[in-house]
Amino acid sequence: MQLYNTITRSKELFVPVTAGRVNMYVCGITAYDYCHIGHARSAVVFDVMVRYLRSQGLEVRFARNFTDVDDKIIKRAQQEQSTSEAVSEKYINAFYEDMDRLNILRADLEPKATEYIGEMVRLAKHLIDTGYAYATPSGDVYFRVRAFKPYGKLSGRNLEELQAGARVAPGEEKEDPLDFALWKSAKPGEPTWDSPWGPGRPGWHLECSAMSEDLLGLPLDIHGGGQDLIFPHHENEIAQTEAAAGKEFSNFWVHNGFVQIDSEKMSKSLGNFVTIRDIFGYCLPEVLRFFLVTAHYRSPLDYSTEALDEAEKGIKRIYSALAQMEEVLAGTKWAATPAPKELEDELSLLEAGFVQAMEDDLNTAAALGHLFGMVRLAGRIMEDKTLRKSQGGKAILERIKADVAGYAKILGVLDSNPATFLIDLRDSKARRKGIEAAAVEALLAARKDARANKDFAASDRIRDELAAMGVDVKDTPAGAVWDVA
Ligand SMILES: [Zn+2]
Repeated sequence: MQLYNTITRSKELFVPVTAGRVNMYVCGITAYDYCHIGHARSAVVFDVMVRYLRSQGLEVRFARNFTDVDDKIIKRAQQEQSTSEAVSEKYINAFYEDMDRLNILRADLEPKATEYIGEMVRLAKHLIDTGYAYATPSGDVYFRVRAFKPYGKLSGRNLEELQAGARVAPGEEKEDPLDFALWKSAKPGEPTWDSPWGPGRPGWHLECSAMSEDLLGLPLDIHGGGQDLIFPHHENEIAQTEAAAGKEFSNFWVHNGFVQIDSEKMSKSLGNFVTIRDIFGYCLPEVLRFFLVTAHYRSPLDYSTEALDEAEKGIKRIYSALAQMEEVLAGTKWAATPAPKELEDELSLLEAGFVQAMEDDLNTAAALGHLFGMVRLAGRIMEDKTLRKSQGGKAILERIKADVAGYAKILGVLDSNPATFLIDLRDSKARRKGIEAAAVEALLAARKDARANKDFAASDRIRDELAAMGVDVKDTPAGAVWDVA
């Protein structure tokens, strides 16, 4: 597989450090608020990566941390007159609720920062002993950025550039404005732990260096996160780990692109963010996940409800085809005609295309293009009166069905029962448009009675009423079915 490596700025052949095994670490959330769509994107991107690597027979050990001690958590605890522990526990639980609904697999290892204070203190102490860090009289510990020569290699920033914007804040006892905190001395009302420098708490960057090495060993195969983590977080992680260990931290650095709203980067600080929960109030979780895999993971992704509507149409098209395929395949009489060779070849090309797209830096956008190609091919077979009842047509439809089931495991979408999904989708759309399913069902029952009594004027009136509500009615041998127009 070709994978883009942020540190070399190029696609490289992905080869694990140990054949057959992949050690992967992704920076998780700081648990002080509900997750937004940026978190959803990162979670889906790395979930698909893990699923794809596993589908290729690799044994993946995947670690994703929770930051449960941090300035933002402390501030939130003060606002809510609560404790850091209670705040982080609340939002970690909310994270699991959201991620379960998004069909994100649990990571194999889910360390919390507060469980690794001892390892972090040892790492900071080692960095002081080797001259890469220093403690101040008030008990803070800073990393001496200029002592680590390759600093800036991940983000491509140089020290002069960084120096220009750096200032030492009042009260800080830094040798150099570029230095960053490994340990912060205790302030009143904050959670603290004992250390050789007095009571305090770890700086944010330190936890990932301590936990990833302890859990997975060095070097990692893949270290990932959102693009916003490249600087300073991942740059500082590299400085800490490589200064202390004297070897490379991670072979691959993988970063997913931003989510944009109105072509502007979405961020907490800009205030233009939307939570995963907000979106689940609008569409089905599977629609959001499908939307997130429609883009290549490194591209910026434009979020809007219109974009969700488009994704909804796309996933509905696939599920409708799957439902129709189930109907056709339930048939019993099959003519012994083989399928035209060109159709089989077309399907083979689409199958190969899907794999090639995934092998090319996990290009889910292109992979989905091939999946839609299969859906169109299935459609052509099912529209053909001869083919749909032939052994050859059946064989191709069965192959497509098996393909989609395999892709569903990798992409984490399309593994619901088609009939159930389509009804859930219809009801979700109805809710959004203020259409009450019970009212529609009552009108359909009245229409059925009117027709049974041959009162066609009444039956037409009801049909018009439903149309005015935005409801489409289709009469089938099994009775009337409805959908939202
Ligand atoms: Zn991290």
